[in-house]
Amino acid sequence: MTGALAVLERHASGSRSPRLFVLSAPSGTGKDTVLGALRAVVRGLHVAIAATTRLPRPTEVSGTHYHFVSEGEFARLRDAGELLEEASYAGRWYGTPADQVRDAFSRGEDVLLKIEVQGAATVRLKHPDTVLIFLAPAGIDDLRERLERAAAERGVVDPDEIARRLGEAQREIACIPGYDYLVVNHLGRLDETVRRIAAIIEAERARVSPRPALS
Ligand code: 5GP
Repeated sequence: MTGALAVLERHASGSRSPRLFVLSAPSGTGKDTVLGALRAVVRGLHVAIAATTRLPRPTEVSGTHYHFVSEGEFARLRDAGELLEEASYAGRWYGTPADQVRDAFSRGEDVLLKIEVQGAATVRLKHPDTVLIFLAPAGIDDLRERLERAAAERGVVDPDEIARRLGEAQREIACIPGYDYLVVNHLGRLDETVRRIAAIIEAERARVSPRPALS
């Protein structure tokens, strides 16, 4: 009974163990738009800023979208054990700085990592209590339409690049069985997608006796 009361007190006072969430989505699924809207409705969620060796896109700012680092700096972070996970994607390195997760946890915040499938598998192995969410397009035709539309908006339609991304998406979709939740981001139904992810986060926050958080 005492243990149960302690759990109740922790939940009631908002001092339950922080949770780690992963959101993976094939390129072009609309993950960043979804996350932008999600931040407005879910409080107490730190979205980690990853380190990457890829170059910034024109609208990206270092320290906001990513920490853009050199190959040498990335290797230093990895060798010093400062990355919770890392993965190579499209010839570039990406990794989650472990201190960001620790700092957010010490503030009592949950953390969301927007990472690809290899990184998600690593995090799950290291921290089995991580909640893995896969955000998917409604199908390959839907994804092709999204990629073609985005390319047309940028004024650079490269069929080879679209074919490469579709192939990559199929490899990522094959990993869905390793995830806890699957959310389909139907075209034109952003609100529904955001509502579903928010509901998953809320349900996991209410879970009784979560296993110990990242130390
Ligand atoms: P992009 O270059 O389009 O921003 O991201 C490419 C892929 O890398 C996306 O699937 C994105 O979620 C993933 N990614 C971004 N940051 C990380 C990270 O820190 N670790 C891993 N494993 N993947 C990441």
